[in-house]
Amino acid sequence: MTGKYDAIVIGAGHNGLVTACYLAKARWRVLVLERRHVVGGACVTEETFPGFKVSTAAYVNSLFRKEIVRDLRLKEYGFEVLERSPSSFTPFPDRRYLLLGPDGEMTRKEIAKFSKRDAENYSRYEAMLERVADVIEPTLTESPPDLLRPGVRGLWRMFQLQRRLRRLGSGAGEAVEILTGPARPILDRWFESEELKATLATDAIIGAMASPSMPGTAYVLFHHVMGETNGKRGVWGYVKGGMGGLTQALASAARALGVEIRCEAPVSRILVEKGRAAGVVLAGGEEVRAPVLASNADANVTFLRLLQPGELPPEFLDAVKRIDYSSASLKINVALSELPDFLACPGTQPGPQHRGTIHVCPDLDYIERAFDDAKYGKPSERPLLECTIPSVVDPSVVPAGKHVMSMFIQYAPYKLRDATWDDLREKFADRCFDLLDEYAPNFKRSVIARQVLTPLDLERTFGLTGGNIFQGAMTLNQLFSFRPVPGFADYRTPVRGLYLCGSAAHPGGGVMGAPGLNAARVILRHR
Ligand SMILES: Cc1cc2nc3c(=O)[nH]c(=O)nc-3n(C[C@H](O)[C@H](O)[C@H](O)COP(=O)(O)OP(=O)(O)OC[C@H]3O[C@@H](n4cnc5c(N)ncnc54)[C@H](O)[C@@H]3O)c2cc1C
Repeated sequence: MTGKYDAIVIGAGHNGLVTACYLAKARWRVLVLERRHVVGGACVTEETFPGFKVSTAAYVNSLFRKEIVRDLRLKEYGFEVLERSPSSFTPFPDRRYLLLGPDGEMTRKEIAKFSKRDAENYSRYEAMLERVADVIEPTLTESPPDLLRPGVRGLWRMFQLQRRLRRLGSGAGEAVEILTGPARPILDRWFESEELKATLATDAIIGAMASPSMPGTAYVLFHHVMGETNGKRGVWGYVKGGMGGLTQALASAARALGVEIRCEAPVSRILVEKGRAAGVVLAGGEEVRAPVLASNADANVTFLRLLQPGELPPEFLDAVKRIDYSSASLKINVALSELPDFLACPGTQPGPQHRGTIHVCPDLDYIERAFDDAKYGKPSERPLLECTIPSVVDPSVVPAGKHVMSMFIQYAPYKLRDATWDDLREKFADRCFDLLDEYAPNFKRSVIARQVLTPLDLERTFGLTGGNIFQGAMTLNQLFSFRPVPGFADYRTPVRGLYLCGSAAHPGGGVMGAPGLNAARVILRHR
């Protein structure tokens, strides 16, 4: 290859950085262009309040692929995941509470407070999810086959998948339900305690504009159990120093491999010559050329903003315009002077109630009602809160004696019917604070500062179309061979030399690194 660069990666999200590293490992000369002042995309740490290191968007890790950690020696660059035990705490209005995982014996005792039967069933439920995960997990790091034109490689992949599915035997039906159906009937069948079901159901609707009774939510729940922390399946942890600990390690690994990273370098146009990618034009007008481009931006940005309509086949453009970006997630980052003192489990000294994810979500109907509001274009009257306080496990992220809290909130629909997010932002944040105060009455007075990121802000800050945290909804019609659109699930695009390498592509969102890894493999195979 001639010219200064063999490849340009558009966007320094964690996936873009993974792609850059693997190309550089193959001795490619790689340039990464990032529009923000910092690398990481939605996986980033920023000093939002003086002295507080905030995981601005993503806040917990489990999905990031261990083979990437190993291949890129990320631990040597400072990447470390801190385990949380217990991993979740759900306080209830009647002042009872439920703690879960990863300690099996503690979990069994906790669930038995609500239902002895559920306590017995829980480990069988986990084993069932694990059996399905064993079958599905290998597909995460493979390009999905094109179902209409599979070719020899695609037919081989389909054959392998079919063989794995057969291993499930009579469990295959349940696997199909998990991959395609709603979460609620599955939880209703396994368990009787609303307290347990509501806590588990939160994973089914994270990032989704859906309630647990809607098809596709069982897959979202399942997607969240396919990771691990330090070898423990389904366990989530905090990244030391905040989520940016991962992307800073990736950036260091990339630089050590010779990758050039430029921040504050927004790409405004992809250059196409004779149907082939030829380079990019930056917002300031600078042209940078390379024969291979990998876009970490979502499909909407890549195809509808960076390319001209005439450069893509009309049917492909139509398919991209049909991608569902609906979302209802809002994030509030909070600096705290003390820990929440829960009525259900009092104390402002770090305790089991503070270490894991704190769920404000007492029963399944509560989630349904919260979603009902969003369906009609209103933020939930009583939203679901998922709060984490990483400073309890990792004091390095705060000044001595202080704490930082991530509040991930649903449902806050991107499309509002009678208001704008610029008007509602602070009012809705107040509503969320009032709600947490009902459970921990010292909360509001402990707030030093807050940052509210509505779906509109997520779009503006991170370039996530519609504020969708996964670069496109994780519904069956947009997964596997259909992600981002049917016929193009193998990271290629209709423009030769242009590839997608972010979570717009298979296997989708979450801090996983799999799209970046798979894209790099495809790119290297094509040269
Ligand atoms: C609020 C929130 C909370 C989340 N919580 C979690 C969590 O706890 N755990 C988890 O696993 N996942 C979580 N997620 C999902 C996860 O963070 C994302 O799926 C993942 O980070 C996406 O990574 P990516 O590399 O594919 O893309 P992104 O992180 O979206 O990166 C794309 C990059 O491309 C850049 N870019 C876009 N356009 C251009 C351009 N024209 N020129 C140059 N650069 C460009 C963007 O600035 C960005 O840096 C969360 C997401 C959000 C938003």
